[in-house]
Amino acid sequence: MLDIKITKTTAPKAKPQGPLGFGKIFTDHMFVMNYTEGKGWHDARIVSFENISLSPACVVFHYGQEMFEGMKAYKGADGKTYLFRPERNAARANESNRRLCIPEIPEEDFVEAVRAVVRVDEDWIPTEPGTSLYIRPFVIATDAFLGVAPSKTYLFMVILSPSGAYYSSGLSPVGIWIEDDYVRAVKGGIGYTKTGGNYAASLAAQVKAHDAGYSQVLWLDGVERRYIEEVGAMNIFFKIDGKVLTPALNGSILPGVTRNSVLQLLKSWGIPAEERRISVDELLEAQKTGKLEEVFGTGTAAVISPVGKLRYKDDVMTIGDGGIGAVSQRLYDTITGIQTGALKDPFGWRVEI
Ligand SMILES: *Cc1c(COP(=O)(O)O)cnc(C)c1O
Repeated sequence: MLDIKITKTTAPKAKPQGPLGFGKIFTDHMFVMNYTEGKGWHDARIVSFENISLSPACVVFHYGQEMFEGMKAYKGADGKTYLFRPERNAARANESNRRLCIPEIPEEDFVEAVRAVVRVDEDWIPTEPGTSLYIRPFVIATDAFLGVAPSKTYLFMVILSPSGAYYSSGLSPVGIWIEDDYVRAVKGGIGYTKTGGNYAASLAAQVKAHDAGYSQVLWLDGVERRYIEEVGAMNIFFKIDGKVLTPALNGSILPGVTRNSVLQLLKSWGIPAEERRISVDELLEAQKTGKLEEVFGTGTAAVISPVGKLRYKDDVMTIGDGGIGAVSQRLYDTITGIQTGALKDPFGWRVEI
């Protein structure tokens, strides 16, 4: 069991009033733990949230050796605090760590770090419908060394940010840009890890899509630019002719916890779901024959994000009537209901803090 030294802040901040937005406000505390080669992970502690001091030569600044996770804590109507499948984030963090030559963090220590810091800042969890406490665990490489090699020292930190409802007035559909020039990741690369480099690679296309009036980018495979991969920070699902499809995990797609939960729910409801390769031509064809019924993204931030419009080159596809599909709405209601304790949890996904 992780031995965590807790030092409470002497200067607690005022809680935010008004709209929270996303990722701009941070709580009073953070979890910190060091890694030193030969010694392992050590000095687990919870301290005041504040700036940290690092050498400008740190490996993370130059070669991007870092990994991060994203998860949430929810305040239930019963007053209890819940996490959603935190063991999946812990396992995925280590998948990223292995690929990036970062030392693994024992999964129970990862989860305990998250629980402990959320417990300390529990009164920061917002309670309005749709709000939550966003949790950002991350590891950075801290050796002050400009040679290209895995660092021998690291920092593991967990910071917390109260976040507003993603949709302020119910689910609303987004427009998505299918990118046919830039690519995000290739098989053999780091596409399946949660790491800054993937996001750095995505920014130019994100700017291009925004300028054209689309809120997110849908990536195609990095070799043929023909097969669907995923959205910026979401996995993607298509309902075609009664069947739900999502790209199979192929090494360049991030294995989302929400994606996995959606697949399990669909199975339990008897809705046919398939993980396989999906070409952009197949989508265009399904659209043409009126069989493209629903499109939605899945991820921790929005849970389910209905897609109302898809653009590919000169084709603009309006999905269904451009509104919210029945399966999208049912998935959103079910997952958020399980997360907040409003619904039964037949899969054992909810973890009380
Ligand atoms: C985090 C992330 C997702 C969604 O994963 P969840 O575990 O469902 O939040 C999807 N794609 C990318 C690139 C991501 O970074």
